[in-house]
Amino acid sequence: MPASALHERLFKIDTHIDTPTASLMKPGWEFAARHDFAADHSQCDLPRMAGSIDALVFAVFTTQAARTPSGFTRACDGAMQVFDRTHEVIRQNAASCGLALTAADGPRLKAEGRRALYLSLENGYPLGLDAGNVAKFHARGMRLLGFTHMLNNDLADSSTDPRGAEWGGLGPLGREVVAECNRLGVVPDASHASDDALRDLLELSRAPVMLSHSGCRAVCDHPRNIGDGLLRDLAARGGVLQMNALPVAVVPAPEDGRTAALAAFLLRLKDAVLTPELRATLGAEWDRIDKAYPNPAATLDDFVAHLVHGAEVAGIDHVGIGCDFDGGGGVAGLNEVSDYPNLTRALLDRGFTEADLAKLWGGNTLRVMRACEQAAK
Ligand SMILES: [Zn+2]
Repeated sequence: MPASALHERLFKIDTHIDTPTASLMKPGWEFAARHDFAADHSQCDLPRMAGSIDALVFAVFTTQAARTPSGFTRACDGAMQVFDRTHEVIRQNAASCGLALTAADGPRLKAEGRRALYLSLENGYPLGLDAGNVAKFHARGMRLLGFTHMLNNDLADSSTDPRGAEWGGLGPLGREVVAECNRLGVVPDASHASDDALRDLLELSRAPVMLSHSGCRAVCDHPRNIGDGLLRDLAARGGVLQMNALPVAVVPAPEDGRTAALAAFLLRLKDAVLTPELRATLGAEWDRIDKAYPNPAATLDDFVAHLVHGAEVAGIDHVGIGCDFDGGGGVAGLNEVSDYPNLTRALLDRGFTEADLAKLWGGNTLRVMRACEQAAK
């Protein structure tokens, strides 16, 4: 049987893509038009999704900045604007895509011939100091909540804060947020969180936990990835590790100053208020660091190594795909949303069966979503 027919049949979801912040907020950028990666570095639009992927989790990402009343207000306003813009784009393209709110919505939209778009919040910073705000974002369609980004916040410690741990895992607010996620059926997302924060989440959450875009530390020793012990704990609680295509987290790379440059950039922002003017400059600064410290040469095979290892350690029911396109992810052979069939071919070559592929492409994620919905009842 040709790989393409199999790929088409499977329900396929990628659980982390930064298109809302990276592209949809750009004036004049059309989701319905085909873009060229070489020209604008975008990795996702509707024409490139067609025939390649059924569902994406669109992340509404907020850079970690000042943990002050004005900082929280600006972060919340900024995130709400991205949710509103994303809803607008989905409405404008209702013939080819639709908003997905439940596990059942993804396969239903696929059956209707439309792409399913779920929404997540990447970094709980816009919640401010009030766990009650989880409900506000849930009302805007948020169904996954990433507790932190690259610096610590009031919810939890990050895996990459150069200052080290602040809470030793989840903070008191983070503990309340777990309860709110469980009450509302929101999937708790531990990508970017520290190991201790993930441990706390696994202990506290009544529903399974997801890492929407991370990897295996045994394959690439990067703080964004998790070790085999935690991976087994995640699996024992029914969770899933979705593999990231961020080159520095896919293949070991010599330290060339990139980490220090990123840390300096992030720490400069820690007391800043995210005004629209400041937010408009952040993408260019990321690009400058990316240019100064080129990514290591990672390939599709390197990415597959994380899936193979994860499936060996945790079992095929506990791994999946979260490439982090439009957010720094992308390796040779898997660098935009039209490339997903290459991954199916590579996995078939490595001996994965159709049943395996059905699980890692979508079944596992839908199971976690359903379990979170059940916990809310
Ligand atoms: Zn991320």
